[in-house]
Amino acid sequence: MAKILCVLYPDPVEGYPSTYPRADIPVLEHYANGQMLPTPQATDFTPGQLLGSVSGELGLRKFLEGQGHTLVVTSDKDGPDSIFERELVDADVVISQPFWPAYLTAERVANAKNLKLAITAGIGSDHVDLQAAMEHGLTVAEITFSNSISVAEHTVMMILALVRNYIPSYEWVVKGGWNIADCVQRSYDLEGMTVGTVGAGRIGLAVLRRLKPFDVKLHYTDKHRLDRDVERELGLTYHEGVESLVPTCDVVTIHAPLHPETEGLFDEQLIGKMKRGAYLVNTARGKICDRDAVVRALESGQLGGYAGDVWFPEPAPLSHPWRTMPHHGMTPHTSGSTLSAQARYAAGTREILESFFAGTPIREEYLIVDKGQLAGAGAHSYTPGNATGGLEVAA
Ligand code: NDP
Repeated sequence: MAKILCVLYPDPVEGYPSTYPRADIPVLEHYANGQMLPTPQATDFTPGQLLGSVSGELGLRKFLEGQGHTLVVTSDKDGPDSIFERELVDADVVISQPFWPAYLTAERVANAKNLKLAITAGIGSDHVDLQAAMEHGLTVAEITFSNSISVAEHTVMMILALVRNYIPSYEWVVKGGWNIADCVQRSYDLEGMTVGTVGAGRIGLAVLRRLKPFDVKLHYTDKHRLDRDVERELGLTYHEGVESLVPTCDVVTIHAPLHPETEGLFDEQLIGKMKRGAYLVNTARGKICDRDAVVRALESGQLGGYAGDVWFPEPAPLSHPWRTMPHHGMTPHTSGSTLSAQARYAAGTREILESFFAGTPIREEYLIVDKGQLAGAGAHSYTPGNATGGLEVAA
């Protein structure tokens, strides 16, 4: 029998909800590219329930305990005295969400002698040292597409929030003001602007599609060029690299995974090549942007605004300068954890566990690392190496 260690974010401060604002969530037939939704044999939760927090348990307890397995759920994940580190020693499977990542460093992987499978309940497995996973024969899998549209919607919201100066205007209302001039002195129309995406995979392409009706000029860069039909349909301009993309854009939005190629990509030099006053949105991973370079660029006016929901480490410490820098529209890492997305990635997690226990193959599109190498979606989008460095601050 297996031990499954599941790291989830804490329950709401006022306790696990007993009611929800909506009675149901829409039922999707398939994902935008035709990919099948998760197909577990059964689920033990109601779609629309809070599943990603400790008491939600991703709806897994009945299923796992019913088969005689042990499920340990905790949110205590950082540092050598954490429950995660203690329980990891004899765990067979680790489940973690990028919103509250259980960092699986090389040291932790080496100490976890029974560990065979690390599941990312969501998308983005950079919290696992993928190099160490390859070397130790660990399988890493994520629920590809489960929250891609959730993130794309959040991204469009953030672009509009920055360009229209929404958050400061909202704050004037709450403060009791009617300060039109204060609100509009930084407010523009998105129409006519040039928007560029770094990465045009599931999320990047969904953002481009959603922005098309805003009558903007759309640019993108990616390691693999999109079909010419898609480029024509959306009127896209392709750039071979990010260096030629950024000087042309009023808004740049990042949708590439964090891996050795993209870590620290948006540093002082690259941000310096952007148009003065451009907006930068990052819902991919915090470490793709140099923390202090972003702050300096906002202070100097080189950036007109910065928004996103990804930080490093997570949760971000109270002293993280992105909490207090000017002209930002940051949220905690929430874009991919809507109640709608949770239902999909909880079902996908169960599907992966069912395959693992039955000894049948995990869906190819869910795989990041398998049999000692990058596999499936991982082989397409990642490069070998580790992007978990610098974690001392998390503890
Ligand atoms: P995909 O794999 O579908 O797309 C990523 C794209 O980025 C691929 O087309 C890939 O290229 C491209 N890419 C990789 N490296 C580079 C590079 N150096 N320069 C330009 N493009 C590059 O992933 P998703 O769209 O589903 O997700 C993207 C990322 O978004 C995830 O890895 C994750 O980090 C983040 N994410 C964030 C969430 C949140 O809640 N904020 C939730 C879900 C994901 P190719 O494959 O063509 O080689």
